[in-house]
Amino acid sequence: MKRAIFWRMMAVALAAVLLSGGILLWAFYDAVTDELDDSVEREARIAAQGMEQAADPQAFLDGFAPGTRVTWIAADGSVLYDSEADSAEMENHASRPEVQSALRLGAGGGSRLSDTMRERTHYFAVRLADGTVLRLSETHETALGRVYGILWVFVLLFAGMIALCAMLARQASRALVEPINGLNLDDPENNDVYDELAPLLIRLSRQGAHIREQMAQLETRQTEFTAVVDNMAEGLVLLNANLRVLAVNRSALALFGAPANCLGEHLLKLTRDHAIVQIVDRAAAGTRCEQIVEIGGRQYQAMANPVKGGGVVLLLPDVSERYAAERMRREFSANVSHELKTPLTAVAGYAELLASGLAKPEDARGFGQKILDESGRLLALIDDIMRLSRLDEGAPGAHMQPENLGEIAQGVAERLRPLAQKHGVSLAVDSDASIVTGVRALLEEMVHNLVDNAIKYNVENGSVRVAVKDGALTVEDTGIGVAQQDQQKIFERFYRVDKSRSREAGGTGLGLSIVKHIAQLHGAQVSLESEPGKGTKITVRFPK
Ligand code: ADP
Repeated sequence: MKRAIFWRMMAVALAAVLLSGGILLWAFYDAVTDELDDSVEREARIAAQGMEQAADPQAFLDGFAPGTRVTWIAADGSVLYDSEADSAEMENHASRPEVQSALRLGAGGGSRLSDTMRERTHYFAVRLADGTVLRLSETHETALGRVYGILWVFVLLFAGMIALCAMLARQASRALVEPINGLNLDDPENNDVYDELAPLLIRLSRQGAHIREQMAQLETRQTEFTAVVDNMAEGLVLLNANLRVLAVNRSALALFGAPANCLGEHLLKLTRDHAIVQIVDRAAAGTRCEQIVEIGGRQYQAMANPVKGGGVVLLLPDVSERYAAERMRREFSANVSHELKTPLTAVAGYAELLASGLAKPEDARGFGQKILDESGRLLALIDDIMRLSRLDEGAPGAHMQPENLGEIAQGVAERLRPLAQKHGVSLAVDSDASIVTGVRALLEEMVHNLVDNAIKYNVENGSVRVAVKDGALTVEDTGIGVAQQDQQKIFERFYRVDKSRSREAGGTGLGLSIVKHIAQLHGAQVSLESEPGKGTKITVRFPK
């Protein structure tokens, strides 16, 4: 803007200088020309009078000062005398305009420019009484010629004027622009610069307020969005059409182990997981994709959704628990079928023998007993499975109430005393009156399963000690023990260290899973200490 103003001013100043210079020159030129014309006419008239009275015209004509050319022309145009050239060699002058005028009207003048325009010759001719014509001419430098002579002055003057104009234009443009540059745009209406700027400043002020309002709204929205997104347990990543990260929440950063400053980076900087990159690519092409991915040993259901106008939203909920539960259910179904099949096959086998009549009558009783045993096992198994599925169905929260764990332990132990005696195992109970919140039937079942195991997996003359103290139940035996590598697994469904011993003892492989499940429902912790050949100690610690 400053530059534009400067050049405009310069153009105006130059035009003014050139125009005024030109007009001055022309006026000067015109005045000088007129004056010279007049002086030649005056001189010519005086000379004509002198010539009329002169006794010797030749001498009279010779007496003119140099600089004034005198030509005496006869009525027919031939030159009789010329002060500067040989009259005999001069052409006929009858056609010259001033001569013609003099012959016709008595006097006539004119002027002619030289080819270079630097000189002008002024003529004036007067007809004498004898019919001859006396012409005077003077050659003078024209105004232009004079200007040529002092051209350097003009150049100097012009340069000086331009320099002065440039300086003034610079100052003026700066003075004009400076207040605009110094405008306080943070508070546009509080500027006192040019009245013409007021509408613009008011508009700026209104727009500024509008923009501030919108920014505040955006910031609020951004804060809300960040708060919501950062508190999500699921990983969330927003990507633009070029798969660069627009937003990523804390869960996603933790999940990928990525730094917080990955905004604007490509997805690959966040994760190189092939499955994720693939579904994001497909979502970017417009297809919604979903896939279970494993990161750090946990399962996530990666969902990539295309966004209208380009971009992808990637959501990563943790589905490890659901995944594990589903897997367990699948395995459980397979195991249940397998476990049911064994006793049923035996039952079917014996029944077939009996039905075919091939069995000897004396064996029939034994087969009948076997069928009874296997059916009992089947029923026990079905009972346990039903119990487990009931437990799987959910927490019995509403039925929980304070129960005396010591009393429960005592009761269960008494019921199992005959079994202990049958196995030649001594059973001792040492309980206080610990009160725990729970479901009596489940607590009884838990104690039953633990004491039952302690008796079943014991040795001849072994012992079992049941203790309840400070809300913790301990069942300790001097039995066969569990090897280190099996200690965790025995709590899994259908896991048995020694399958045939468990079968003989009427085990289903579900007892400890039920114990674990009941403990979980009560918020209790189960721990196991065991050494093969020495014995096992299982403790269930209830929350205080
Ligand atoms: P089971 O019906 O076979 O007893 P459990 O779930 O109760 O099923 O026990 C799983 C396995 O853990 C048993 O088969 C047994 O091998 C082992 N076990 C459980 N309790 C004891 C114990 N007190 N001493 C030694 N081994 C045990």
